[in-house]
Amino acid sequence: MHSIEKNLAQIRLQIEQAASEYNRDSHNISLLAVSKKKLPADLRNAYSCGQRDFGENFLQEAQAKMRDLSDLDIIWHFIGPVQSNKTRALAESFDWVHCVDRLKIARRLSDQRPESMPPLNICIQVNIDLETSKSGVAPDGIVAIAEAICNLPKIRLRGLMAIPAQQSRFELQREPFAKMRQALHDLQQRGLDCDTLSMGMSHDMRAAIAEGSTLVRIGTAIFGERL
Ligand SMILES: *Cc1c(COP(=O)(O)O)cnc(C)c1O
Repeated sequence: MHSIEKNLAQIRLQIEQAASEYNRDSHNISLLAVSKKKLPADLRNAYSCGQRDFGENFLQEAQAKMRDLSDLDIIWHFIGPVQSNKTRALAESFDWVHCVDRLKIARRLSDQRPESMPPLNICIQVNIDLETSKSGVAPDGIVAIAEAICNLPKIRLRGLMAIPAQQSRFELQREPFAKMRQALHDLQQRGLDCDTLSMGMSHDMRAAIAEGSTLVRIGTAIFGERL
């Protein structure tokens, strides 16, 4: 078996196991294959194993892959930082954008989303550990930006995304994810129609699932180390 095929099978199994351990329905946990710095052939390989959602961090690299793989029915997620001068291209070519952290960016994405396309799915990036090195909305600013985003016509707020500070101990990994779960719950209590917690990477996937992740973003564990 090729290693991508083996790795995907392994990750899917780990998702199943974590789901059953924490009383989750694994159907509510999607696997996003993070393919930055990987070749189109690797994506094609994963696709042939049934993978449909792919995450990219760099616009130009993603655009080249989209051209290369235009025969495949891929759901494209942008998971990199969003700069204002990139919003048009993102709005025109992606299905999801995960790292929205300013209302200005959300407005541009909505304005620039082509009329013929369904609304762009977006997540608000939360700086859950208030790290100076990371972008994202502070937890106490989530409600305000979420409510404003909900009024924009061509984007659909799906939920929240975070990249917590690295922790090696499982119980410590769970803490920021638990805060994220509570933050999504607060939005739902306010009547916002969101369903997504984009959280969990190769090293902390199980903790994220334990705390309600609905979308894990996995690169290394599927495609191997990036050069
Ligand atoms: C690269 C990246 C991932 C995947 O990380 P791995 O550790 O390779 O699984 C997930 N999310 C974001 C935002 C990334 O940039």
